[in-house]
Amino acid sequence: MRDLAVVGAGPAGLMLAAEAAARGISVVVVDPAPEHRWPNNYGVWVDALAALGLEACLAARWPTARVHLGDDRSHAIPRAYGRVDNDALKQAILRRAGPALERVPGRVVGVTHGADHSTLALASGGAVEARVVVDATGPASALLEPTSGVVPAAQVAFGQVLRVDRLPIPQHELLLMDYRPLPRHVAAGADEPASFLYAMPLGPDLVFVEETVLVSRPPLSLPILQDRLQRRLSSLGLLRYDVEAEERCYIPMGAPPPRGPQRVVPFGAAAGMVHPATGYQLDRALALAPALAEVLVAGLEAGASPGAVAATGWEVVWPRARRRLWAVYGFGMEVLLDLDGAGLRAFFHTFFSLEAEVWGRYLGGTATGAQVAAAMLKVFAAAPGPIRRRLLAHGLGPGGWSLLRGLGD
Ligand SMILES: Cc1cc2nc3c(=O)[nH]c(=O)nc-3n(C[C@H](O)[C@H](O)[C@H](O)COP(=O)(O)OP(=O)(O)OC[C@H]3O[C@@H](n4cnc5c(N)ncnc54)[C@H](O)[C@@H]3O)c2cc1C
Repeated sequence: MRDLAVVGAGPAGLMLAAEAAARGISVVVVDPAPEHRWPNNYGVWVDALAALGLEACLAARWPTARVHLGDDRSHAIPRAYGRVDNDALKQAILRRAGPALERVPGRVVGVTHGADHSTLALASGGAVEARVVVDATGPASALLEPTSGVVPAAQVAFGQVLRVDRLPIPQHELLLMDYRPLPRHVAAGADEPASFLYAMPLGPDLVFVEETVLVSRPPLSLPILQDRLQRRLSSLGLLRYDVEAEERCYIPMGAPPPRGPQRVVPFGAAAGMVHPATGYQLDRALALAPALAEVLVAGLEAGASPGAVAATGWEVVWPRARRRLWAVYGFGMEVLLDLDGAGLRAFFHTFFSLEAEVWGRYLGGTATGAQVAAAMLKVFAAAPGPIRRRLLAHGLGPGGWSLLRGLGD
């Protein structure tokens, strides 16, 4: 029997397993294909990766990021952004783990708990035993007890890697958001959510482009986004290109944190750690893995019961202050869900006109509830009338309570 079983070998699960194995306990990672390449095209703020000593795991980087909001409203964001080299990141994490980390292929279909260990049932009929289990199986968590009555929103995007004669955007900048309105599509409904172009210039003739709805409920369909992407490229004068790869992105957002503690410790997207304002999660999972590994290893080495060890893990992943912070972000997300394209453009213009420190903390998820709530109040104070009315309407509704509680942190 191992000390720790981590289910799911995505970035979150593997990083946690590596940090725990590096501390000397026996760790097994179970995943249907633990050796496979991670498929997602990950973008991160370079400082977040550098803080973890993982800056070398970037395939590309840009010193600034650009936000276009139409009507000559454009913001240059003086913060370096990078595209993750998934293979390099995986290898760096495995090096941290050392040779003792065990990786077992298998799909976990259930878990049973005894007094001193848990047993994972595999689809193959096999079983894996461990004293403590972590669920890092991604957004459709395989092992956590579901939270009922939740209708999560989602970030959806359709992306392509294109070989081009001429880049449609400057090569030296990451295009974080091009929210400029598209010519209207005949089939588009009046209330269809607005989308923006996110683009990474990867070389003089290679670019990753992705048409994205930041958050929608119900999610906008991917064929609509694919159509919008084509029209977006045409509007940038890009008519001829070869498609080298495609990415279909669906990220559930805004569900409340899972109810805990449970015997299984959640981590990564499975734990609902995806940032409700941005859809990002990678940097947070990588940064939190050492602290989570530390308490799990300490508890196991002290001979604490599995339930007690799991409870300390839950405290690291979802401390009370973080739950409150998430409720404040949830308030912000509901406001965004309510805005049309013009409203979103006005909102982000106000947002990116704030001090870089304020929106940087907000987007990075490193702020306290009070700082996030204060940032929202600053947007409120500076926003044009219609946005202010929307914020006020939400503030007077049930979401306003989260905002007030956040201010009290
Ligand atoms: C297309 C896309 C692009 C994204 N881009 C970014 C980005 O640029 N920046 C960012 O910060 N975030 C991004 N995200 C959000 C989030 O960071 C990613 O979803 C990230 O991959 C989550 O990491 P994870 O390790 O928690 O889960 P995952 O990466 O989803 O990994 C889960 C692992 O668990 C395995 N698994 C699932 N079920 C079982 C089971 N029953 N038994 C055993 N194993 C199982 C899966 O095979 C998988 O290997 C993106 C998400 C998507 C979908």
